[in-house]
Amino acid sequence: MIVYICKMEKVEIKLLNKWYPLKYQNKLKGRYLIQDDILPLLNNLPSSFDVNKIGESFLKKDIYSVSFGNGNKKILIWTQMHGNESTGTKALFDLLNFFATKHELSKIANQILETCTIVCVPIINPDGATAYTRVNAQNIDLNRDVIDKKAIESSILQDILKEINPDYCFNMHDQRTIFSVGENNNPATISFLAPSVDQERTLTDGRKQTMEVIVSMNNLLQKIMPNQVGRYTDEFYPTATGDNFQKMGHNTILIESGHFKDDYQREQTRKFTFYALLQGINFIARENDKNNYKAYFDIPNNEKLYLDIILKNVNYKDKKEDIGILFKEKLIEGQLYFMPKLEITGNLSSYNANKIVNNSGLSFLNKIELEKWLKNEFN
Ligand SMILES: [Zn+2]
Repeated sequence: MIVYICKMEKVEIKLLNKWYPLKYQNKLKGRYLIQDDILPLLNNLPSSFDVNKIGESFLKKDIYSVSFGNGNKKILIWTQMHGNESTGTKALFDLLNFFATKHELSKIANQILETCTIVCVPIINPDGATAYTRVNAQNIDLNRDVIDKKAIESSILQDILKEINPDYCFNMHDQRTIFSVGENNNPATISFLAPSVDQERTLTDGRKQTMEVIVSMNNLLQKIMPNQVGRYTDEFYPTATGDNFQKMGHNTILIESGHFKDDYQREQTRKFTFYALLQGINFIARENDKNNYKAYFDIPNNEKLYLDIILKNVNYKDKKEDIGILFKEKLIEGQLYFMPKLEITGNLSSYNANKIVNNSGLSFLNKIELEKWLKNEFN
């Protein structure tokens, strides 16, 4: 007897590297991304993509879902639950381009479309996106509102969750520059979490499956940006979205897009986020793949050892100190500015930074003087 096994394709990095610069969604750029930016793109999708209005935000902005694929495995992806975390939205539209166009990797795309149905909700918090805030217009953190559902956007997300009943969810976030990969001094360009379902952090079958997907994404990312992937603490958060969705039986993968050297617009990170998403989805689509979930625990924990700027050996308040700076993004009349703010002083030898100024010969009497100088130097 001859048994034919239909072999599912793997994501070839070489081909993906060739595809990406030509076909990524170049109409979305930068950090400040609002609903108006994505509406024309949703309108332009081919007819095989089903675009539906699924509700309105607190300030009456339309929220849409995009569905595609015909398979039994259901996948739900949402972005910008925190309004100022836009990298996942850019990566998601790169993913839509991947499925909307024909190319050398179409075989993978077709296999995924046959095995999976993918439903995306880009910018679930459009009011927060417009205001460039983490919270929604009622000052509610949607990622802590899953039980109370005080925000209309939380109900919209849970309604579609019930409707789709997904096997897997991708919960897309951004993290600040400060997160490093363990103590190896690299920025955590991408971090993952397989959320816990209880205080004991029990390794349920669902969590193990979530971890397996993360292991496959990590394996791919290590090939293109070694040692820049971190893992979040799996401490149980009773009101967090991922923890509760996972508890309800929907395997939920948290992706946090973070800093990459000199990439303040997060255009490199966006590419890595897209690669990770595609790899994760393809792993889910491939029936016969198995990973050892235990490798999830080999991904180093996120630490907070990375800064935007370190000034070494500064005379500060009459002491020799290192000065650690983080940028804070500020929206002024529709433009995003990166404001340098003092984060930490002391001996910062265990820290790394995007920019390190050695032996600056600088001297500041106080914080006001320091921040005034920073503003002139780095704005
Ligand atoms: Zn977030």
